[in-house]
Amino acid sequence: MQTSFSAAQLADPDTAESNRILRTCVHCGMCTATCPTFLLLGDELDSPRGRIYLIKDMLEQGKPATEQVVRHVDRCLSCLSCMTTCPSGVHYMHLVDHARSYIEQTYTRPWPERAMRRVLSFVLPHPGRFRLALVGAWFARPFAGLVPGASMTAQRLRAMLRLAPAAVPSPSPFERPRVHPAEGPRRARVGILMGCAQQVLAPSINEATIRLLTRMGIEVVVTKGQGCCGALDHHMGNHDPAMRLARANIAAWTAEIEGEGLDAIVVNASGCGTTLKDYGHMFREAPEAAAAARVAGLAADISEVLTRFGYAPSRPAPGLAVAYHAACSLQHGQKITAEPKALLKAAGFVVREPAEGHICCGSAGTYNILQPEIAGQLKARKQDNIARTGAALVASGNIGCLTQLGDGAIPAVHTVELLDWMAGGPEPAAVVRARAAA
Ligand code: SF4
Ligand code: SF4
Repeated sequence: MQTSFSAAQLADPDTAESNRILRTCVHCGMCTATCPTFLLLGDELDSPRGRIYLIKDMLEQGKPATEQVVRHVDRCLSCLSCMTTCPSGVHYMHLVDHARSYIEQTYTRPWPERAMRRVLSFVLPHPGRFRLALVGAWFARPFAGLVPGASMTAQRLRAMLRLAPAAVPSPSPFERPRVHPAEGPRRARVGILMGCAQQVLAPSINEATIRLLTRMGIEVVVTKGQGCCGALDHHMGNHDPAMRLARANIAAWTAEIEGEGLDAIVVNASGCGTTLKDYGHMFREAPEAAAAARVAGLAADISEVLTRFGYAPSRPAPGLAVAYHAACSLQHGQKITAEPKALLKAAGFVVREPAEGHICCGSAGTYNILQPEIAGQLKARKQDNIARTGAALVASGNIGCLTQLGDGAIPAVHTVELLDWMAGGPEPAAVVRARAAA
């Protein structure tokens, strides 16, 4: 694709990077075939190629983003399915990240939307605030259907209340900064991202991860000073808050790396993993560039770490069929496709793959709140495809997908909880529910 940026524009490293990305696109349109929003809406401007053109024009003109550009970029899930399909290697993720940040700097959203985005940014990345908000939402949840109006704001409020869980689990002692020693001789020492929303919604995931790793002889360090990876803000275009959160993590893990050392930084929420692995790029122009690249290089999804250290079950096969839902951030963002399924099979589960496995479930960070209609359609489509597998459970490696799909007919569970159970851990609550429903 031809571009026409001025030398002054190209002096900005983000614009220079976007220029490089734009020039790799050959407008073939193959990406449109696997884009969820194009699939649903059928509008070229809601396809990757259409968005690439809109972003190109916006950046080249150097003017404030228009309502049209904002509408179509906002509808993008950042699912990255287009990156898997693209034969030219267009790095759409970095392009759309830049576009979102540019939009937030140049476009004034209507005030209800600004307010909602501020609330999401203020609450979600902070477990204490999020826990309090969920308690409030728990009281308001029964009245979700009574929120009046068909406006986008009303739809978003209803979506937010519906997504609040029926019960808020107590904080887990596993979350506190400490070292969880390996059982038996120590084979490795790893850090772990405790995350933000996940530790509030489902502390059982971090607990299962730590139990499983320590049982395999891996010491797990919950580092002081770490927090949200920054992905939620990053995907809303909030550049500075995202960088602040990421910077705190880099400092926390760098202290650990330079102290006793780390063999990996384990991530069990693939949305966060994709962002952590991108820290090198996010900080490429910053003083922390080298430290950020080191942290990014150590970041590994839990399925990669379990594969590397040879996961083995200790219980007999449970005779359960599990539908594996590949989170977009895992399959498209990190290109991890085989490991989770191989681990589930090794643990004795019958693994079934739903149709349209490459299509997003509509969760996508805060997307299911900010774009509730499209997210709802994708969710229904995904739950339908999962139900058709006839599986008792659906397993996934990302809390966003589990929250999105968890109210369906089939209980949803994190892959690592199933693996931990088969290696001696407790039976996950979702399995209990699946057995009761059988
Ligand atoms: S598949 Fe790749 S090269 Fe083709 S239009 Fe899409 S982004 Fe551009
Ligand atoms: S990231 Fe997903 S929704 Fe966005 S353009 Fe690519 S395929 Fe479409």
